[in-house]
Amino acid sequence: MNLGWATLETPDKDFSSVVIHEFGHALGLLHEHNHPEALIQWNKPAVYADLEGPPNKWPRAEIDANVFAKFDLSKVIITDFDKASVMIYTIPSNWTLDGKSFMPSWKLSAGDTETIKRLYS
Ligand SMILES: [Zn+2]
Repeated sequence: MNLGWATLETPDKDFSSVVIHEFGHALGLLHEHNHPEALIQWNKPAVYADLEGPPNKWPRAEIDANVFAKFDLSKVIITDFDKASVMIYTIPSNWTLDGKSFMPSWKLSAGDTETIKRLYS
């Protein structure tokens, strides 16, 4: 399992968030910011500028796929958009045109738990 940017020096709540997020993927959860109902007003130039630089150094196609893409609700099992999900990226206010920001939870949200129930029932 790739824990991305987390290291042994990462504060416990942030480390917990990363580990639970990655286990969420292992169980089948998708990135919440890719939910078609998220309606995030992306400031794409700011997102590209940050993610094309270190430490990510992602090409635009990877940013488009990981950040801006929307999944097809007819092909997934999921709840309504859940801004409290552990599966949402940290989205700073300068990444949105309306100044909204999002922080992932450090634990499974009620929506995350409901989605896992639906996936395995
Ligand atoms: Zn992820």
